Parts: sequence; structure tokens; C-alpha cells
Amino acid sequence: MVFTCKQCGTCCMYLGDYIVIGQQLGPFTFACESVSTGTTFVAVIGEDKRHLFVDCSFPDNHPAACRFLRPDGDLIRCTIHRDSPAQCKFYRCVVMRIFDPAGKMIGHVTGTLALHSDDPDLRTLWEKVEKNRPRSDEEAEVWLGSFLLGWGYRVE
Ligand code: SF4
Ligand code: SF4
Repeated sequence: MVFTCKQCGTCCMYLGDYIVIGQQLGPFTFACESVSTGTTFVAVIGEDKRHLFVDCSFPDNHPAACRFLRPDGDLIRCTIHRDSPAQCKFYRCVVMRIFDPAGKMIGHVTGTLALHSDDPDLRTLWEKVEKNRPRSDEEAEVWLGSFLLGWGYRVE
């Protein structure tokens, strides 16, 4: 279950209030704060992304998005990837997709091990997951795969 970010930008679209620019220190250098953790950091726009960053039409049209997000062809990318806060670097929107025995995808699990599904049986089973899962997220991820397989679901 190796997570690969597809750089779709979805997770950054409403983080404009959470990744905040305090002061511009240079043409491409900013003093910033990650509001949820109270962490301050200095962000330098990646050299290969400066041509993207200077076009402000995207943030102008998406005021709730993180100020560092920009479209790049089919992708929507972070322009400060090297300097982005840890929670951005390690964020995983999907660590597991769950399929029913007929092969239909019925839910997915995020990196915080939260279930996203409308399937009532799976949602009920998730109560058992919450009660019985190992407390460490790493162990729980491995345990969860086996647990769901034991109940007849396929996971990817
Ligand atoms: S973590 Fe997920 S939602 Fe965020 S950019 Fe990557 S693929 Fe998209
Ligand atoms: S710093 Fe980068 S990864 Fe973090 S919310 Fe902003 S655009 Fe997304």
C-alpha cells in the first residue's frame, strides 16, 4: 500500500487559512505559519516553479486555496514542496481502497485511518475496526488490510 501523490491539489484547496504568509522576505521567500500547529517556517518558491507562482490568477480565483498552490498543465502543484510543513509532506489522502466481493469499490481509507464510505455494512464493520485496531497507525494499517480480507473485502 505505497501511497503516491497524484498532485491533484484537492487537499490544498481549502488550506488558505491554515498555511499563512506573514511577511514577504524576498522576491520568492516568505515567512509563514502553519496555523494548526503554530509552527513558523520560511518558504522559498522552488526555482523550477517560479514561473508558475508569479501567475496569481489561480489564487485570485480560488481564495480559499493555499497561497502556494498553482496549476501546472494537468497537475495542481505545491510551489514550496521542499519547505512545506511536515503535515503537508506526510499527508496521504488515500492509503487503502476497499472493494466488495463483486469487485466494486465501496470506500477508501485516508492516512489518518478514517473511513470514507456510504456502504452501510462497511460502516458498521468499521465500529469493530475502531474498537480492535492497534493504537499505532503503522501497525493498524497492516492489521486493517488483513482484517478486511478476513471479512471478504478486497483492498488495494
Ligand atoms: S495528497 Fe491526495 S488529494 Fe492531496 S494532492 Fe496528493 S493525490 Fe491530491
Ligand atoms: S504548502 Fe504546499 S502542500 Fe501544503 S497546503 Fe500549501 S500547496 Fe498544499
